[in-house]
Formats: sequence, structure tokens, C-alpha cells
Amino acid sequence: MKLIDLNRHGAIGSNSTYIEIGDFKILVDSGLHPKKMGYDAVPDFEPIEHETLDLIVLTHCHLDHLGSLPIIAAHNPETPVITTAPNAELAPRMLRNSINVMKRQREEKGITDYPLFLHRDVVELNKQFVVQRFEHGEIYRKGKETIEVILHPAGHVVGAAAVEFIHNGKRIVFSGDVLFDAQRTLPGAHLPQGDIDTLILETTRGAKESDSSITRASEVDRLVTQIGEILERGGSCLIPVFALGRMQELFKIIFEARSFGRLPHSPVYAAGLGMDICNYFEKIRKRTQLIDFDISMLEKMKVRSVDLNMRPGRDLPRKGIYLVSSGMMVEHTPSYKLAASLLPHAPNGVCFVGYCDPETPGGQLLEEHSGSFFFDALDYSAPMRASIDQFDLSGHANRDELVDYAVHSNAKNVVLNHGDPHAREWFAQTLNQRMPKTNVLNPSPGVLYKL
Ligand SMILES: [Zn+2]
Ligand SMILES: [Zn+2]
Repeated sequence: MKLIDLNRHGAIGSNSTYIEIGDFKILVDSGLHPKKMGYDAVPDFEPIEHETLDLIVLTHCHLDHLGSLPIIAAHNPETPVITTAPNAELAPRMLRNSINVMKRQREEKGITDYPLFLHRDVVELNKQFVVQRFEHGEIYRKGKETIEVILHPAGHVVGAAAVEFIHNGKRIVFSGDVLFDAQRTLPGAHLPQGDIDTLILETTRGAKESDSSITRASEVDRLVTQIGEILERGGSCLIPVFALGRMQELFKIIFEARSFGRLPHSPVYAAGLGMDICNYFEKIRKRTQLIDFDISMLEKMKVRSVDLNMRPGRDLPRKGIYLVSSGMMVEHTPSYKLAASLLPHAPNGVCFVGYCDPETPGGQLLEEHSGSFFFDALDYSAPMRASIDQFDLSGHANRDELVDYAVHSNAKNVVLNHGDPHAREWFAQTLNQRMPKTNVLNPSPGVLYKL
């Protein structure tokens, strides 16, 4: 088989991997880099510009996997885009939101490449989706050759799949983004077992030592306690969340904590794309039973929308829990604006529930120890009087679990992807020790490898 990592900046970035298995030319994912702008955020499709793809697979709907899919699908209009039913439901919604964000950035930042595609491209992409059920293989043909494609539940976020290809008795597996632990809304991953020929493995948490004393359940418990303390002392609690997945899980955590009397019935406010995603989750639950999310809990909690008419530094007039995107408190988002109001007032608190990239305002706030924080986009310097805490509700498996999976798979080749350089280094070293006969490859972007 042949492989090219098209993610031009390496690290996590704009995920997209091209593989050739026998005669089949296949692309897995086509993301958009969260921190780059314009065409620089798109994978480098140059090596496959003159190829006609036979299959495209979408693992899940986070934009670092989905965000440039309309572009490559438009170049390959006859090619099936294989994915799960929840992904086919969510992808158009996520992409339409992305178009709106790009249009705004074109105006605000003068990025003339934007939007990279239009609503009609999303409509066309929709026609290319071929939905497969989890763990039900489908055979695809090309001339006399056949390949079987099986999608496996990867946890992580609703719809997320690991992808298995079987060709001439050889098994090639893409882990995709994986979480083995169950979330409140979603069961954990169930990856293919038995011997694998080539395993393409995510490495997101390679630089983070696993600590067996910290579990998802213990982190949820600590979070609920902290929210309770903030409300008790008369403050508001800001929880910056990703719109897809984490917001819905947090709704459920808060709802359950209230039902068990662990949190008071304070008002819950929410805003943004995540609220609309709740409607999609409801639809997906009814149609597929793949998630455990009942939208009636929003009504029972009387979730209200956030009034974003606020002034930096002036405390929020309505006390309560604020569940808003973005998770990393990126500029111009509700969580960024709310933080500028909350931060100078001591009873308030900010609870981060996932990883924050150090280059984002969320990451910078977590590292800020000078006592004040500058909100660049608002030209406002806030004294830091609210409490700031972080809880590990990551959507990714810890590194030891992934290594154990690789070891059990007995893979001849392990290809590292979806990780920063330090994370990949740890995986390369550890896998070399634990699987001395295995070829561990950390591919350079754009280079063709034969495996
Ligand atoms: Zn993801
Ligand atoms: Zn990802």
C-alpha cells in the first residue's frame, strides 16, 4: 500500500490522508486547520490533483477532519463519501456554520480566499454521502478488485468512526479520533480486534502522562463540586465548550447533578451553534439510538439564551451557569465576551473542561499569573478576580490505552498521525520499545511512503 499525509503543517491541523490499496485510491478525512487562514488552512491536495479518488471516508464532523471536504468532493463528484448516519446528518450543519464564519472573517480580516466553498457545494456533497452502519462491512469494486470497508464506533463524538479496509486478506485500520471511556451521551470506542497489517493511529495525548488516579468520573465529580461552590458564593459560572459534543454532555452532567440534588436549580444560559446541535442530537437519537441525549432536559432546566449585549468589566446582571462556545475562548465568541464581563468579579468562576491550545485566549488565560488578562479583541485589560479551573473531560484516549491497542493489534506498520511533534515522539519511542519488529512511521507531510 502507499500513503501520503496531506496535512501540510503536520501536528493536528487539517487532517487528510491519501492511501492506495491495490488499485483503490482512497482519501480519509479532509479537514481545515483551526489556526491557519485561507488556503493555508486546507490540506495540500497537490499530490492527488490528477488522481480520481475511488472512495472518500469521513470519520467524524469536527472541522479538523471535515472542514475542507466540499472542496475535494467537488473535484471528485462521482466518488462516494462513506460515513455514518450521524455524520451525514451533522456535516451539512457544521459546514454551513463554517461558511458563515469564513464570510465574517473575509469582512473582518480581509481574507479574500474566504469562503472556500459555498452553500451549493454543501448541497452537492450531501448527494455523495453513502451511509454505512457500524460494524457492517460493505464491498466496493473496481475492475476485478474488491475492497471491504467497515466502520467501527470510535467514541470521541457522536458519529465518530474508526475505519477498517480489508483487501486481499490484509487489514488496514485508521483509528480516527478515539475515546475508549464512555461519555454521558455516548458509549466508548469499540475498535477492531485481531491482527492488523497497518494501523494509522491518532496521537493527540502523547505528550500527556496518564494518571490512573484521575478518571473521567472523578473529573466530572470535581467539576460539579466547583460549579456548586461558585453558585453558592453568589457567582456566575462560565463553562467554555465545543459546540459539537461537549456542550450536550455538559447539559446532561448539569441536569443529572440537579436531579441528584448536587447542584441548585440556578438558571442555565447557553448560546450559539451548540444549541442547534442539540436539536440534531435529538433527531439522531430517535433515528439511530446511537446517543443518549433527550432534548426535553433543556426544557426541564429552562435553558435560556444568553443576552450577549454586555460590556467588558461590567458583571453579568443575571447569575447562573453559562454554557457557551468556543471551548478555547477564541476571540469574538460568546465565551470570550462573557469572560471579559465575569473575570474582574471575585464570586464568579471559569471552568475549562478540555484542552486549550496555548496560542488561544483560553490557553493564555490558564497560563496567566500576573493578575490581569488583556482581551485583545476588546482592547480591555481585566483584573483576574474570578476563579479559573480546568477539568480533564478530553474526547481523546490516553496514550497508554492507544499503545496497548497497537500492541494487541500486532501491526506490521504503525503510522502516527493527529498529534503535535512531542506527542508523536513519545509514541514512536514507546512503540519501538514495545513492538520491536514493527515499522513505526511518523510521516512527513506530502511524502509518498510504500508500506
Ligand atoms: Zn475530533
Ligand atoms: Zn481531530
